[in-house]
Amino acid sequence: MLSVGLNVVPFVWAASPAAAELETIVVDWMGKLIGLPHLLLFSGGGGGVLQGSTCEAVVCTLAAARDRALAKLGHENIMKLVVYASDQTHVTFQKGARLVGIPPSNFRVIQTSASSGYGLTADAIRAAVDREVANGLVPLYLCATVGTTGLGAVDPVRGLGEEAQRHGMWLHVDAAYAGSAAICPEFEGYLDGAELADSVSMNPHKWFLTNMDCCCLWVASPATFTAALSTDPEYLKNVGTNGTGKPAAIDYKDWQISLTRRFRAIKLWVVLRRYGAIGLRGYIRRHVAAAKRFERMVAEDERFEVVVPRKFLLVCFRLRELLAAVNSSGRAFITHFVVDGKFVIRLAVAGAMTEMQHVMDVWALLQGKAEEVLRRHQL
Ligand code: PLP
Repeated sequence: MLSVGLNVVPFVWAASPAAAELETIVVDWMGKLIGLPHLLLFSGGGGGVLQGSTCEAVVCTLAAARDRALAKLGHENIMKLVVYASDQTHVTFQKGARLVGIPPSNFRVIQTSASSGYGLTADAIRAAVDREVANGLVPLYLCATVGTTGLGAVDPVRGLGEEAQRHGMWLHVDAAYAGSAAICPEFEGYLDGAELADSVSMNPHKWFLTNMDCCCLWVASPATFTAALSTDPEYLKNVGTNGTGKPAAIDYKDWQISLTRRFRAIKLWVVLRRYGAIGLRGYIRRHVAAAKRFERMVAEDERFEVVVPRKFLLVCFRLRELLAAVNSSGRAFITHFVVDGKFVIRLAVAGAMTEMQHVMDVWALLQGKAEEVLRRHQL
């Protein structure tokens, strides 16, 4: 209500200095809370922005990576640029690569497997990149995901970062949902190696009590990032464009696709001030504890199988036909995924008002429906 009602538009600093300044402050707070290295924060020479979604953030980082590479190679070499991701990476990276002119045939989807917990290994990337380089192609961009969409898997950021550095690739860390967990010291380790990243993103609108839309994007080099996104028409010149070549203030229009923008900082500021770090850690830990309990109950019931060990709030398990029976009951809504040809049911404990009791109730519902399904098949 505050964000929409105030209708403040911090696209150039002069249009709303307080809103622009607040955004720089809350993205630094968020970065510190999840344990990001100093160099990704404004206070350390990097900086951040609040965008609408990871999808938008990814397009911006891909554009910056492309321009950085083509400034050295020449624009005519765009067809040589290759983007790397895993079969668990969010599909938005493929779409983003297409949008910035990378040929679809140059988008590499590296297979993951159960042996690495469905994480993308540095060895797999090294093998793929070495092959491409030998064929005259240029590795451009690598995505490491902390908490994949389907299974909640984690790619090892440090190992992938070292591979990216070896070839001058842009490393993006997509911590869309699981990044929130990193506010708890016991989860901070998953972002180890983030100092090797060119950009990191996470969505407070997923698991951080912040209303849609709000995606934090941090970059190590604001100059490289804004070079790909800035516009400088006469009518927008202000203190941020003071002709010195060095921005005197942040013009957030140069940090995103669109020009005008929402006052998202107020939402995140309210969440951070209202709950505080301790309150937010408690919130995350309550969900993780409920997910852990659910995973244990599933594992102890021999009719079910936990398909991938849980890391955060997502439990992936299986029993065919059960999903349809549970969802058609109208009492719970659960989604599925397919991994190694196996149909998997996913329970994500992420609702702002979800309590342990809801998890206990849904487990009773799952067991009841499982009995019906198994009886029908006389298993
Ligand atoms: N990356 C991951 C790992 C996700 O789980 C999701 C959404 O589910 C996205 C990116 C896309 O996020 P957004 O809807 O903010 O673009």
